[in-house]
This record gives sequence, C-alpha cells and structure tokens, in this order.
Amino acid sequence: MQYQSTRGNGGAVSSAEAIKRGLAPDGGLYLPKTVPPLTKDDLSALLPMSYAKRAARVLSLFLTDYDAAALREDCEDAYREDRFPGGAAPLTHFGSLSMLELWHGPTSAFKDMALQLMPRLLVRALRTTGEDRTAHILVATSGDTGKAALEGYRDVDGVKITVFYPCDGVSPMQKRQMVTQEGKNVAVWAVRGNFDDAQTGVKRIFSDPALVERANRAHTFFSSANSINWGRLVPQIVYYVSAYCDLVSAGRIVLGDAVNVCVPTGNFGNLFAAYLAREMGLPFRRLICASNANHVLTDFLRTGIYDRTRPFHQTMSPSMDILISSNLERLLGTVGGAELTARLMRSLGETGSYTVPDSVMDRVRAVFSGYFLTEEETAGTIRTVFRENGALIDPHTAVGWGAAEKYRAATGDDTPLILASTASPYKFAADVCRALDLPLPDVEDPAARMHLLSAETGTEIPSPLSRTLSLPVRFTGVIDPAEMAEVLF
Ligand SMILES: *Cc1c(COP(=O)(O)O)cnc(C)c1O
Repeated sequence: MQYQSTRGNGGAVSSAEAIKRGLAPDGGLYLPKTVPPLTKDDLSALLPMSYAKRAARVLSLFLTDYDAAALREDCEDAYREDRFPGGAAPLTHFGSLSMLELWHGPTSAFKDMALQLMPRLLVRALRTTGEDRTAHILVATSGDTGKAALEGYRDVDGVKITVFYPCDGVSPMQKRQMVTQEGKNVAVWAVRGNFDDAQTGVKRIFSDPALVERANRAHTFFSSANSINWGRLVPQIVYYVSAYCDLVSAGRIVLGDAVNVCVPTGNFGNLFAAYLAREMGLPFRRLICASNANHVLTDFLRTGIYDRTRPFHQTMSPSMDILISSNLERLLGTVGGAELTARLMRSLGETGSYTVPDSVMDRVRAVFSGYFLTEEETAGTIRTVFRENGALIDPHTAVGWGAAEKYRAATGDDTPLILASTASPYKFAADVCRALDLPLPDVEDPAARMHLLSAETGTEIPSPLSRTLSLPVRFTGVIDPAEMAEVLF
C-alpha cells in the first residue's frame, strides 16, 4: 500500500516512511492511495477475536510493508490487560445508543488507543528505513494528546519527545498529568496562547528548512505524534470495526445491519477514522460530527464555508477547543482531490477561510451531519444522563451524547448508534461536579474534587489519575509561541 500527500506533491511513499515523516514535504497529510475493503466474511472472521487480534488484522491491511507477525506482537503488547484493565474498547448499552468507552488506558483518554501502539510502529519504521538519527517527536496538545504521547514514548530508545500545551487551555488534571511526567527523554512546555497557536508553532517548525537542517546536524529529525501522523490515525480505525463486531456478538444487530456513529470532534482525527472504517465497507449510515461552542465544523457542514476567523471559546471540553481541524484536510483530499485541497489549504493559510464547491459538499453531506452544544447544554446533558441513565460521562462525551440526541430529534432516525466516549469524567472532575450541582470545595484541589465525585456518584477514580496526584512536578517552563523552536536544541 502506497501513501501520498493530500496536496498531491512529493510522490508516493511506504507506510513506514509516512509514519516516520508525519507531515508530507508539501505540507499535506498522508493518505493511502486506496482504502482496503473489509468484506462481510472478513468481519465474520473478526467476531471471535480479541481486540489485539482484530487490531493486528485491520492494521495489516493498511501497513502492508510491516511484518504481520511483528504487528501481532505489537498489538498484543500495546493492548495488554494491565495497560487497559477490563478491555481496550468496551461497549455500554443504553437502549439503541451504545457508548464505546475509549478511556480505559494509562492516561484515561481515548488518545491511548493510538498512542500505546504508535511508538512501536515508529520504532519499526526507523529500522526498516535504515534511519540512525534520533526521532524528535513534537506535539502540540489541547490536553489529552500530550500526556498520552509522553506515556507512549517515554524511555523509548532512539526517540525523544517535546510537548507544548496552551498555558490556560487545559484542565487542571490534564496539566498535572503532563508536568509530572516521568522519563529521561521527555520535555514539557506551557505556551502562551491557545491550542491553535501551539499547533501552528509546531507546523512552522516542521516546515522551516533552517530548523530541519539544524536538527539534522544534531543527528536528529522532527516527527509528530499528532493525528496529522498516519501512525496515529490508523489504530483508531480499529475500534470502530471492533465496536461493530461487538454489537453483532452481543446480538444487538445482525451482521450487515446499518449503524450510525457519533464522535465528539476537535481535530477531526477520530471522526475521520470512522469515515475510513465506513470506506472499508462497515455499514455506517451516518457519521455525526459533535462540536462544542467552537462549532466551526457544524457551520462548515451547513454552509460549505470553513471560516476560522471567529472568536475562540474556552469550554469545559478543552480537547475540542480547536478552530483549525487539521484532519478535515484528509476528508477534502479523499472527496475533492489533491488539486482542490492544495488550493483550499492555501486559502486557509492566507485568509483564514475557504469555500468548498457544492458538488464536493453534496458528497460530504451524504455521509456527515453536524450538531453543536453550548456550555449550558453540555452541563445539562451530564446531569440528565447521570440522573436518567446512571452513567457518569465527561464533558466531551456529553457533547457527543447531546449531538446524537439532536440528530435523532431532527431526523427521526433511530438506527442503533455508536457514541465514542473519549475521556474519563475524572479528568474533568470540577466541571462534572458543577454540572451535577455537587458542592465544590473552595480550594483548587484536584484530589478533593475527585473524591467528592466518587463519593457522590458511587463510581471509581481510575487508578492512573490517583497515582498522578502523588508525583512531584518536573516541568514549570512557560514560553511565547515565538520561542518554541529555541527550546528544542
Ligand atoms: C482529542 C480529544 C477529542 C477530539 O478528537 P479529534 O480526533 O481531535 O477530533 C475529543 N475528546 C477528547 C477527550 C479528546 O482527548
């Protein structure tokens, strides 16, 4: 399987090369030339398998230059029971809505699903491409990617990692998780600004020839762990395939039945993975894009105009506080082709907006619906879902739940629905307590909030989060976006 840039330049590369590079040389994102099919028979064969085995099978269709036995070994190790207690991606059912819980890994957010595996894929890619320089992973994070990447790459030989997070744009628990990170090859910096400032800074480093050369002289090269990297995206396809299999195994649907999928969305990576599963042949009828008050994607689906020049809102779902959804470029590349994508991305860079032709939007709208929730609606959803269904959900998942309800109310479409649940509510304990009208302690103490939430709801604090509270703070640096390049050397 060959990979090429969404913007069409630079020729085709192997999957190992795409994973090693992260971004294509023309600034585009790598996409497989074709999407491999998963037939009904293939799905039948996956039914009795464990998550790790399903993962190895699906990945082998995309990563054809990887050794199949090596992939099996990596998947077995990445999704081990002690890393994902109780299973990697379990479903909980609420009538015809099934919640796909993607946060049982070491950092309690769905990013672990990809980032426990991706370092293994990168290390193998370095070997097969004859690379002897150190890979320097640069990460801009809206909160959860940073910690999951740090945990995935810590103390991996031949790799070092630097994480940039927006100074005031992450939850106290997310920040705590990052600044206490252990490992000898890790660095963490707070950047003044919002997530887009940090992400733009990282993209600028990647495309600055002088910095790339400076890294080379230091016998290193830059690579990414953001969902712009194909190695991050491909493991995410697996859990949609796996969830479909589990619905069949549970007798809730028959193999071949249609389902809808709803995903709380920021950078569009998670939802694009669902789209790829659909392209493989999974009978996903509609993909619902759920947004918070930064509803640039809802507006885009409605109008065909992507316009990032708008006020930025800090919400209680910070991992979705994003105005430049990088992976939307992959959808445009797939549906509209490279020439159009290159033109639209140039327009985004120059003017902050672009307009997609109607013929392309018709094809996008044939698959995707978009809804957003205000902050009040998000808090209201956390409250009613807990009172009526006994489920404690985090603000991101609540945005998804509310969007799924809006979709159903607007269309009357009651097809069984898979809702991606992307984080543990304990990562956002203060906002969840507030939504449930629990009396918050005056002091800003993450431990007290988590214990309050646990005591009042009868749910358990995930052990990785309680462990974090006892670790010392290691990283306190705060920098301007302009200083990001300097701290790398
Ligand atoms: C990253 C993240 C999202 C957004 O996922 P994208 O792939 O960026 O769309 C949603 N919820 C949580 C909890 C996240 O960490």
